[in-house]
Amino acid sequence: SQRVKIKQILLSDSTNYEVTVKGWIRTFRNNQFIALNDGSTNNNLQVVVNEADLDPALFKRITRGASIAVTGEIIPSLGKGQKVELKTKQLEILGDCDAEAYPIQPQKQSLEFLREIAHLRFRTNTFGAIFRLRHALAFAVHKFFNEKGFVYLHTPVITASDAEGAGEMFRVTTLDLKNPPRTENGDIDFKEDFFGRSTNLTVSGQLEGELGAMAFGDIYTFGPTFRAENSNTARHLAEFWMIEPEMAFYDLKDNMDLAEEFIKYVIRYALDNNREDLDFLAQRLVEEEKNKPQAERSEMGLIEKLEFVLNNEFVRITYTEAIDILKNSKPNKNKKFQYLVEEWGTDLQSEHERYLVEKHFKKPVILTDYPAAIKSFYMKQNDDGKTVRAMDILFPGIGEIVGGSQREENYDKLVRRMNELHIPVEELYWYLDTRRFGTVPHAGFGLGFERLVLFVTGMGNIRDVIPFPRTPKNAEF
Ligand code: ATP
Ligand code: MG
Ligand code: MG
Ligand code: MG
Repeated sequence: SQRVKIKQILLSDSTNYEVTVKGWIRTFRNNQFIALNDGSTNNNLQVVVNEADLDPALFKRITRGASIAVTGEIIPSLGKGQKVELKTKQLEILGDCDAEAYPIQPQKQSLEFLREIAHLRFRTNTFGAIFRLRHALAFAVHKFFNEKGFVYLHTPVITASDAEGAGEMFRVTTLDLKNPPRTENGDIDFKEDFFGRSTNLTVSGQLEGELGAMAFGDIYTFGPTFRAENSNTARHLAEFWMIEPEMAFYDLKDNMDLAEEFIKYVIRYALDNNREDLDFLAQRLVEEEKNKPQAERSEMGLIEKLEFVLNNEFVRITYTEAIDILKNSKPNKNKKFQYLVEEWGTDLQSEHERYLVEKHFKKPVILTDYPAAIKSFYMKQNDDGKTVRAMDILFPGIGEIVGGSQREENYDKLVRRMNELHIPVEELYWYLDTRRFGTVPHAGFGLGFERLVLFVTGMGNIRDVIPFPRTPKNAEF
């Protein structure tokens, strides 16, 4: 008989047909009922076995965690909780499992504990829902850009450029660092390296992406991105995935419009296509909220929160307006937001961003026109001589989810800015060539994929929305 995924069986109302299912045993109850899961859904298939029909040696091996193949008939279920069940005709143990040693329990286990057994946590309902959603969102990203005619350009992982200039790069080297070649003054001589210069893991595909936009018009890249973050926050990973579209003939407004449309599109896609997993995570949040004091409980459930973002326009204000709001805001007694006094010219801390979004506007906010001094060299300079055409999108519970800008397309202005910042103009000749040969106004943004997954799943820690988190404490596999 045909092998069928459990999701398909449970979605259909038909009964009295034969199937084969394969999966892992979640629980085995009353020596009779196996809850079988195959990863296609959080809902288990009830597999009914009759001890008298089975070889006792085989029966003993039916344990939590074991993998099995079962053939039998799908029949209406008399029990509560499921419409159909599988009446076993033939059962095969594919892989035994010592249930005593198996760390995954049917009872709820803490996220902290599951992070310590990250190699097995995929087998829980929570992580099943999260990673099916992550998959759906990634698919929606490609679907959105494909429908808009963007070219998916693969930018390099190993690169010599530091787009952000923030010094958070992982160096890539083939040198024997125990015994490296030295220059006359004793420094490591990276000229001897494979590439003849020091290379690093990419912190952003943007600069290379701009080369693509100057030929294809609209491109995007979506790949792993690396930053040697020395902070240990719930919003930063050392390895994360970034979506970076880059569009020729776009100004800052076009850029904001696209980013807002894009975020709404992928959230809509998740709601329309992964409702079961979203409902599961929404219910999980409701349980979590019950443990919090009344004042800290969120006003909206997960689904409501997603619908709210879809149904409201993002607020658009300048950095300067934001500083005025922050200056005039009263420090909150609830000490979360007590450091609100800000001076023009300083970068916003995430508590400022979250104040604007969660307390002041209660909507996603796009902040534009930041001081040039706190933004990257490539952003288009405004006529005021102080600010650049940057935009950050700020989300409730997250803070910054997108950073973007219109790019400086004028060769002379760009070179002047690079000189001011001591950025080696010769090394970036390839980047500057786009401004020499047929330059055009263009813009783009970077969206941290895990921050989007955090928002959509309602999870609180970025380590829980990436399959293999790379943080100082997580690099075993
Ligand atoms: P932050 O202020 O949160 O450190 P950033 O301004 O350094 O972010 P950008 O250089 O603007 O980040 O990168 C674009 C986007 O990539 C950010 O808006 C964010 O969504 C995401 N991002 C940046 N750093 C990380 C990280 N270490 N882990 C996960 N996502 C990140
Ligand atoms: Mg950063
Ligand atoms: Mg930032
Ligand atoms: Mg940023």
